[in-house]
Amino acid sequence: LPSLLKRPDLVCDKTLVAGQWIDADSGASFDVTNPARGDVIARVPDLTRAETARAIDAAQKAQKVWAAETAKTRANILRKWFDLMMANQEDLAIIMTAEQGKPLTEARGEVAYGASFVEWFAEEAKRIYGETIPGHMADKRLTVIKQPIGVAAGITPWNFPNAMIARKVAPALAAGCAFVIKPSELTPLSALAMAKLAQEAGVPAGLFSVITSSSSSDIGKEFCENHVVRKLTFTGSTQVGRILLAQAADQVMKCSMELGGNAPFIVFDDADLDAAVTGAIACKFRNNGQTCVCANRIYVQAGVYDAFAAKFQAAVEALKVGDGMSDDTTLGPLIEPKAVDKVQSHLDDALSKGGTILTGGKPHDLGGLFFEPTIIANATNDMVVSKDETFGPFAPLFKFEDEDDVIAKANDTIFGLASYFYAKDISRVTKVAEALEYGMVGINTGIISTEVAPFGGVKQSGLGREGSSHGIDDYLEMKYICTNV
Ligand code: ADP
Repeated sequence: LPSLLKRPDLVCDKTLVAGQWIDADSGASFDVTNPARGDVIARVPDLTRAETARAIDAAQKAQKVWAAETAKTRANILRKWFDLMMANQEDLAIIMTAEQGKPLTEARGEVAYGASFVEWFAEEAKRIYGETIPGHMADKRLTVIKQPIGVAAGITPWNFPNAMIARKVAPALAAGCAFVIKPSELTPLSALAMAKLAQEAGVPAGLFSVITSSSSSDIGKEFCENHVVRKLTFTGSTQVGRILLAQAADQVMKCSMELGGNAPFIVFDDADLDAAVTGAIACKFRNNGQTCVCANRIYVQAGVYDAFAAKFQAAVEALKVGDGMSDDTTLGPLIEPKAVDKVQSHLDDALSKGGTILTGGKPHDLGGLFFEPTIIANATNDMVVSKDETFGPFAPLFKFEDEDDVIAKANDTIFGLASYFYAKDISRVTKVAEALEYGMVGINTGIISTEVAPFGGVKQSGLGREGSSHGIDDYLEMKYICTNV
């Protein structure tokens, strides 16, 4: 891997803790593998609670100094970090594709997307405004100031190894917090490369540490039990989110949670079908279906069902499965064997309940973690896929007749992250957008993520919002000051 890079030193075999690049106290390390080829590409230190506690201690000291800097000083350092991420975009993308599997074009896009949060929050650092409130008594002057929460800890997944870190760390540092991150054990190299660039940008020693570890639950416990940590931010499955929320309750820790989704993608009979197909491909198959905002259930109105299915099938058959390092690959491998099993189980369940295969339907001839992009027709609400996120290249088509009925079906889930629909009629567009119980709605588009808009879910999809002018609030406390004059 290092030989492919302009800066081979961006592949790190030590991790940044308390301002030092260290090995684990025990000397232990774990493998990072390439999901396209199955080979080990690096080994990183396998840390435990002891090193995590040291990172948290150092974060506490560094945070006090950092918070006392002017917003402009913090902004300049973040801006420098953004510049370095973009200057090293290609290397960061290659590292990401090697450990995560997504096609290089998507990896480059993710690096730019991750960096955009650093740029955005560098700017927002200077706009953490307070309030003055007319007093409730003649001699009272009321003000509200915003202050950093303190030390924040984060746990991130493997599907966006760069952006999920950037959109937590950047607002935290902008606000004047320190940050200790535990990246996914499947994709630690992207996190380490980002940390190296953060250090070069001038992020002070100890302010940002990376805990590479194969014992995620131990690290999660240290984050929740260490009284210095005042904020926990997590992106991952709803199942792990629930565990962390329960653990964090003991010290009433503030939590932000970006959890699972079960996105409906609705094509109404007045939709532009070609645009809907393009949107569905982008939305369903980006990152090989492994995003929490991927379409999970595709509802198509009866009048356009056959036409949509035919066009969608042709578009899926044009996708090219392969190693993400090849230029013509549009779908990489899945991340691990468990992910392949989940796609297979959703498929088997759908077939046993009357689903029919339009295309795909089995592991890919390339073997390993590759799976054919698959469409199932005649999907029904009793199928597992209607309740559970597949996180893979499996697209079920549900036929519907009636607008109210499809809204009810779309909302019939414990999740509420992203939703999408294609239609032209203005009253339908307005009504459906308001009726969908989701944190995000894409209308006539399958791609909605941007640093300038609030990303997040309702119901069991999470707590809090990332990105936008609201994203920094998760790292700030409000202080009300009442002055008697
Ligand atoms: P995914 O299904 O996307 O892998 P997970 O929720 O399992 O999602 O993983 C997301 C992140 O949570 C990863 O960094 C993983 O190591 C971490 N994780 C998994 N289980 C726990 C746990 N019990 N406590 C803390 N972190 C965990």
